[in-house]
Amino acid sequence: MDRELIRKEVLGFKPYSPGLSIEEIKKKYGLTRVIKMASNENPLGTSPVVKEVIARNAALAFRYPAAGNPDLRAAIGEYLNVPARNIVCGNGSDEIIDLIIRVVARPGEDNIVAFKPCFSIYELQSRFAGVEFRQVPLNNDFSFPWDDLVLAIDEKTKVVFITNPDNPSGFCAQKDELKEVLARLPQSVLVVIDEAYIDFALPQDEYSLLSDWQDHPNLIILRTFSKMFGLAGLRLGFAVLPDVYADYLQRVKLPFSVNILAEKAGIAALKDRFFYDQTLKTVCAGREFLSSELKKLGCKVFPSRANFLMFAPPKDAFEVFEGLLKKGIIIRPLKSYGLKEYLRVSIGTEEENKAFIDELREILNG
Ligand SMILES: *Cc1c(COP(=O)(O)O)cnc(C)c1O
Repeated sequence: MDRELIRKEVLGFKPYSPGLSIEEIKKKYGLTRVIKMASNENPLGTSPVVKEVIARNAALAFRYPAAGNPDLRAAIGEYLNVPARNIVCGNGSDEIIDLIIRVVARPGEDNIVAFKPCFSIYELQSRFAGVEFRQVPLNNDFSFPWDDLVLAIDEKTKVVFITNPDNPSGFCAQKDELKEVLARLPQSVLVVIDEAYIDFALPQDEYSLLSDWQDHPNLIILRTFSKMFGLAGLRLGFAVLPDVYADYLQRVKLPFSVNILAEKAGIAALKDRFFYDQTLKTVCAGREFLSSELKKLGCKVFPSRANFLMFAPPKDAFEVFEGLLKKGIIIRPLKSYGLKEYLRVSIGTEEENKAFIDELREILNG
């Protein structure tokens, strides 16, 4: 095997391990019902309006999309009250994360800073780019240690990633706090606030930096259609960013990474206020229900402003995860985040939440 050709940064990569599919789990455990509450997907599925738009545009699949997604960027710009030129769309926000790193950080020289634990894509794409990835441990209550973050930054730091609300804890910092931190960081550092879950943090203006984006020449805000808008499988995310970064990201981005159906679906999803409101209601009610029921079962539950809850069960977390799996409920163990005593459950429908609590009760009391 000619591994000499493989870059040394790449040799350590492991293939993404997706776990068993719903069909495989049904077969393995002889189940008819499987409920997935593992990936923070929208509990209501895909909006009916968006499904209709996708179906109606299916015949366009043979066409290339418009390079640079002008219609979608205009629609997002209007939705957020941001000029379209300051929006860049990607194949999920994952693509934007990768682009930001590669546009500003020099391999073998610069570094990137994030908290520990954090969203795995920040680290994976930094490593792939050959850039040092530094992590600052979160406080014990999973709040953000700002002083430690400021100390970790040096003249070679190019990007800081902050997830707000955070994944997997659900912790959310206030906007005013973020503004203070931005003021403490040198403007030579790009601060990326990943707001994948911001729609679930109410009132949004207390937490989102979006309304202040123009005040900071080094601020990038990331958003996604994967959670609130229910389009995880179509792959669509975007960034709000200053002119110069928008310009260069557009220059290097693969021109057709956002496909034509994702573009149509994204535009339709932004207009579907009914689905948005229904999702928000379902998630807020479910979050309260699950949080109080988990506490009744003796779990330590962390306050969350996202569409999931992190908790520590009173029994071995991995055994609880496996017990639930056998009963057809998939949640997320957090071993890969270095949090082996914790689990993360995505908020489901009322019925799914009840089924999860019933099965968990059996496992914990059995
Ligand atoms: C789910 C998630 C995203 C969204 O990623 P996509 O590529 O847009 O699906 C981004 N950041 C965090 C922290 C997430 O949990």
